[in-house]
Parts: sequence; C-alpha cells; structure tokens
Amino acid sequence: MTSNIQFTTSTTDITPLERVGAHSHIHGLGLNDLLEALPEGNLVGQPTARRAMGLVLKMIQEGQLGGRAVLLAGPPSTGKTALAMGLSQELGEAVPFVHLSASQVFSRDLSKTEALTQAVRRAMGVQIVEETEVLEGEVVEIQIDSFADKGKAGKLTLCTTDMETIYDLGSKMLEMLRTEKVSAGDVIRIDKGTGQIRKLGRSFTRSRDYDAVSSTTKFVPTPEGELQKRQTITHTVSLHEIDVINSRQQGFLALFAGDTGEIRQEIRDQIDAKVTEWKEEGRATLVPGVLFLDEVHMLDMECFSFLNRALESEWAPFVVMATNRGLSKIRGTDYTSAHGIPVDLLDRLMIISTQPYSVQELRQILQVRCTEEQVEMTPTALELLTRIASETALRYAMHLITVSQLQAERKKRSVVELEDVELCYQLYYDVKRSTKLLMEYQNQFLF
Ligand code: ATP
Repeated sequence: MTSNIQFTTSTTDITPLERVGAHSHIHGLGLNDLLEALPEGNLVGQPTARRAMGLVLKMIQEGQLGGRAVLLAGPPSTGKTALAMGLSQELGEAVPFVHLSASQVFSRDLSKTEALTQAVRRAMGVQIVEETEVLEGEVVEIQIDSFADKGKAGKLTLCTTDMETIYDLGSKMLEMLRTEKVSAGDVIRIDKGTGQIRKLGRSFTRSRDYDAVSSTTKFVPTPEGELQKRQTITHTVSLHEIDVINSRQQGFLALFAGDTGEIRQEIRDQIDAKVTEWKEEGRATLVPGVLFLDEVHMLDMECFSFLNRALESEWAPFVVMATNRGLSKIRGTDYTSAHGIPVDLLDRLMIISTQPYSVQELRQILQVRCTEEQVEMTPTALELLTRIASETALRYAMHLITVSQLQAERKKRSVVELEDVELCYQLYYDVKRSTKLLMEYQNQFLF
C-alpha cells in the first residue's frame, strides 16, 4: 500500500496551562458513601465544599445537572482547582479535565469565542469503539515529524490510506504525544492487530526550525491466506483533537483555515455529523468532561453570553468556574455584579464556597506535598514552612519545598532541615515582601 494522504498539524492551539505537577497529589474528592469528607487522605479540609461537590458528582452521574454550572468562590489557594480536578477524577479516567484561565481567553491570537469553543471541545471526549477485521501481523510504521513544546503544539506528519485509519491512528498518536512517549524523529510501529505501539528507533535529525516535513508509512504486507481476526479497540480522543486532525489536512479536504489558528465552523459541523453517525452506529460514545474556568471574573459580556449558550447545548462539558472576587465590575461595562458575573448567568450557577485553611490543615497539605515530591523534612523545618504558609501564601510555601530539597542535596543531606527552609525563605521572596521592598525603593525616588 502506498501513502496518499498526508496530514500535518500546525494550528495554533489554545493549550491550557496544565497544573498537573501542582495538583498531582489529588486523586478524587476523598468522600465516604454518605458523601462526607474523609479526615485522612490527600485532599485536606474543606468538608462543606467537598460534600457539595460530592452532590454535584451524583447529579452529573444521574444526568440532573443539565443547563447548570458550578461556581467555586473563595480566597486564593483554598483548593478551588484541586476540588474541580477531584471531581473530574471521580467521574472516571477517560473523562477529560480542561483548565482554562480567563486571562488565556484574551491573551492568544484567537478570537475570544474561538478560544472558548476550543476549550469546550477539548473537554468533550469521544470514546471510539472500533471493531475491525484486521490481517494478523499487519503493522504500520510511522515516523514522527517534528513537534514543539513537549507535544503541546507543533507538527506531526503521518501518511495513511483512508479517513477511518486517520482517525484511528491520529488518536493513538495524539495519546502518545500527550503522554510524551514519543519525540520528533522517532519511528514507531503500530500493530493493527493488537493495537500495540512500539518505538523502533530514530531515523532523522530533528530540524531546528521545526519545519521539516518528512514521513514514511510502511504497511508491512501480510502473507496471503493468513487468518483474519476481529478486534475491538477502544480509545478516547477529544472533539477538539478530531477538529485539529482534520483542520490540519493538506490536500483533498483543504480544511485548514490559514494561520490564525481558528478552526472553521464547517469543519466542526462535519466532525459533529461524523461523531453523530458513529454514535448512532454504536461505535462512539460522547464523554462530557470537566471544563474548569479559573478567574471567571475576568471574562466579558461576549464570553458570558457564549457560556450561557454553551450550557444549553446537548454537547456541553460540565462547567466549573472559580473566582476569588466578591463584588466586581463586569469587564468592559460599568455594571458591578457579584463575582463580576452577569445576573442571568449567576442564576444558572450552584455556588460553593471555599474557606481559608487552619494552621493544622496547612501543615497537613504541606506534609502531603512533601510525600508527593518524595521530600523528607524534619518536624522543625515543617513547622517553619507551615508558619510561612499561614503568614504568606500556601503556594509560596509549596515552592519552598522543592528548592529546600535541592539545597539539602547540595549539602549532601537526604533530609531537609530548618536551615534549608530558612535559607530559601531569604533567597526567594513572597509577594508581600517583594512588594514592600519595591515600595520602599520607590519612596527613595519620590521628590
Ligand atoms: P486561586 O484562586 O489562586 O486560583 P485555588 O483556590 O484554585 O487558587 P489551588 O490551586 O487549588 O487553589 O491550591 C493551591 C495549591 O494547594 C495546589 O497545589 C493545590 O493542589 C493545593 N491544595 C489546595 N487545597 C488543598 C486541599 N484541600 N488538599 C490538598 N491540597 C490542596
């Protein structure tokens, strides 16, 4: 078989900031059967918010959330993101979690609604079940083209023979890029029989400007007469990924809409039609994920009306918003509103409040993070870190864990001691101290 379709990726994606590192210790909401917060576990405190999130989980599972969304309102670093992530983990492994800060909606060269549409479609998983007749031993070899920024954006070229295979292979490739199991220049072999993917080696030098387009697909022929077998393969890919795979078509579909990174509505319509067809044939299931919209008070009226419409849609993810503002002006208007959100959207929101942590809870969270980062710390060092967290910010204290560990390693110690934390506290400023310092300097220049 010869390759006749090439597909490369180069759209500007709205790639949400992933805070996987900072929240890697979160594995769910930590609730018992009565939806009460378990005292032990990696998610600490916030019993009321956790219980409320537990009820939201039940509503989602029973299909009763429709048209509504959740607003987590509370001071900075009180676990709003952690709670949203915990909810998506409770929903299951295949459920996408997308984190988008409102500032990202304004900071890319995409229109606001395009950025939001991409986020919504990223948070919609499509679980594709394929039952195919494959020739035993049939394999596809693909050389990965260059891609930048740890697989988050860039190029990937593969050649294949038909659209179905593109969807199939495309989603597998995306999975590998996402999990960073492959890099530019790698040649991988996909066994279509078992679905197994194996790295064969590297065969070309990564181009410096990421522009090289070079790909080979080799179908290793199966000896005639060999047995055919039926295979069921399940994989999950997001609607946005299917959009991108298709928008990056070069050649017969010519679907890619220039260099703006915007994906044309007609492409999305085609994808929706295709997915609907798959759904009807029982080959695909839609898996609504969690779209976490942080700093929601920074959105404007256009974004809010988009969200109002999106919540109505049958194909909407579960939207969890977060804000740390009380009363705030709605961006671009003179109207002040609760959390900077217009009343018609507020009406649809179930508001859950998060509370500041007690010293004991801060200590527990820091201890959890030490365990997660495999950092051993003396009790006095942890005590100091807890004090720092309560007097400055939890996130700042968390940063100090990593640098204190490096400092201890430099001193050839495996346990972080008080002096390591003290030193790092002097080396790295928290926001309060750094602002104070600059204000003092500023005063020296005022006449
Ligand atoms: P912001 O308003 O600034 O966006 P936030 O309320 O979303 O903050 P998070 O980002 O969830 O706060 O919390 C800051 C850090 O503390 C994260 O690493 C988070 O995982 C951790 N954290 C917060 N609350 C908890 C908790 N209850 N249990 C365990 N870890 C937590």
